[in-house]
Amino acid sequence: MPQKLQPPSNAFVLFDGSNLNKWTTRTGSPAGWRVADGIATVVKGTGDIVSKEKFADFYLHLEFRSPSMPEAKGQAKGNSGVYLQGRYEVQVLDSSGWAVPGKGDCGAIYDMYAPLVNACKSGGEWQTYDIVFRAARLSDGGAVAENARVTVFHNGIVVQNNSLLRGPTGGALDKEEGKPGPLLLQDHGDAVSYRNVWMVPLPLKGSDEYGPR
Ligand code: MG
Repeated sequence: MPQKLQPPSNAFVLFDGSNLNKWTTRTGSPAGWRVADGIATVVKGTGDIVSKEKFADFYLHLEFRSPSMPEAKGQAKGNSGVYLQGRYEVQVLDSSGWAVPGKGDCGAIYDMYAPLVNACKSGGEWQTYDIVFRAARLSDGGAVAENARVTVFHNGIVVQNNSLLRGPTGGALDKEEGKPGPLLLQDHGDAVSYRNVWMVPLPLKGSDEYGPR
């Protein structure tokens, strides 16, 4: 098993393998996914899990594993998703080996942008997402003045490069772009697993120096 990336000192750890106390369902009930051996796994029908903490700009690291489903096809193959601010889905799917990954495949911004390259590993293998997110900026009147942007590394390979997020993707928690939002992990009915989930909140503007959190 490859070495897990250790969270830096300024990280907010959302799931360290012990429990889902920092998460709820969409309706605020305790998260229903199974936690065992340091891994959280979708329990079909228990619903998406949503972090209690909300974030503006951030760097997110997480590790995920689609189950091996050799008979399954298309969107029925190891589907889950990572919703940034609960609004923009970075797709999780076992699309390993597919010649031309599309807008619904692993590393896609769901139904908006295909990944730049197919970096997906097979079902049953652990994979990583490293995601740098810049939230939408609002005008004084509250309209979106600058769209959100995202850069995604999938297994260390860039698959989204500063992609402009034109709006929330399907299944978003809300459409309140520009407001802090939680991380949401999708229950799409498949037993996808997650581990080592942490977030580094990023300053909204550059500065000369940064102290400890
Ligand atoms: Mg999905």
